Amino acid sequence: MDKVFSNAIVKYGIEKQSFVAVEELSELQKEICKAQRGKFNKDNMTEELADVWVMCEQVKMMYGITDDQVMRKVHDKVARLKMTLAEG
Ligand SMILES: [Mg+2]
Repeated sequence: MDKVFSNAIVKYGIEKQSFVAVEELSELQKEICKAQRGKFNKDNMTEELADVWVMCEQVKMMYGITDDQVMRKVHDKVARLKMTLAEG
């Protein structure tokens, strides 16, 4: 998949793909809002999660962020959440 993503970045450019990423994030926001209004559609939500995942992969590539760097932050944040939950 990485080759497809890098080809997309080369073809459309960082500026365009950055806007697509923002657009896809807003489409996921919309699905979450709709679900909260009683209009949950699992297929639509899944599709928007997939779109966001694809664009997050490209954002990482465009800005030189590795999976390891992201996962280190994820582990820090999960540890912090765990502590917050334990505090009640
Ligand atoms: Mg979408």
